[in-house]
Amino acid sequence: MLARPEKFKCVECGKALGTPDFAYHKGRMDHGPAYWSGHGVLCSIQCSLAHHRKRMADGTLPTSPARDPFEDDRD
Ligand SMILES: [Zn+2]
Repeated sequence: MLARPEKFKCVECGKALGTPDFAYHKGRMDHGPAYWSGHGVLCSIQCSLAHHRKRMADGTLPTSPARDPFEDDRD
């Protein structure tokens, strides 16, 4: 379960995790977000791509996959 969903907002558009049109892993809210980066969660493939492009432009793209933000968040 998501213990503190208010902690997670799309880093591109600010949409809060928990809103109905947020993209969830396998379409299920209790699976957590479908997209994220080392900077935070992303609400959709559109924001994921926008975020990727910005980081590519900044030269801050990570060389390894981002850690799952929920891995350390389970009590
Ligand atoms: Zn977004």
